[in-house]
Amino acid sequence: MFLLLRHLARQRREIALPRGPRGSLHLRHVDAGSCNGCEHELQATAGPFHDMQRFGLFITASPRHADVLLITGPVTTRMRHALEVAYASMPEPRLVAALGDCALGCGLLGDPREHLNGVGDVLPVDIRIPGCPPDPETIARHLVAAMERPGHARPRGVPATGGDAAPG
Ligand code: SF4
Repeated sequence: MFLLLRHLARQRREIALPRGPRGSLHLRHVDAGSCNGCEHELQATAGPFHDMQRFGLFITASPRHADVLLITGPVTTRMRHALEVAYASMPEPRLVAALGDCALGCGLLGDPREHLNGVGDVLPVDIRIPGCPPDPETIARHLVAAMERPGHARPRGVPATGGDAAPG
């Protein structure tokens, strides 16, 4: 057991992700009709092995506290309004991330009559994370890169304020 833990710790150190500026991004994830493959990889990114918190990436429960609206799935017609409400609830500056090929409009999944052509049909997409599903390193790499955008990394320990629409 000890050897296994040591091996995992060494492997983790070898995953060389770029460090963002000193700060953090808080992510509000919304499943807009995915097959759950992208959620599985996102969960792995946040888990103890990949540990995205060490890069300043955190999942938050409310869009009112989020810097990034992180969306998976092709956006079903029934989720369109929920995404618009979540986006309106976020404080500025805010970003939208499309996670996975479905969210990017590849049209892989479902009946085209029941979903839109990806997140871009509803909201402006700032961060595009390709893959079906993207692996944890790809997810973390794109989100860390977003922290390089001027004004988007939140100084650590500073809560979000603002948002002007319905609660999330
Ligand atoms: S991109 Fe692939 S894994 Fe992600 S929701 Fe679509 S089909 Fe599922």
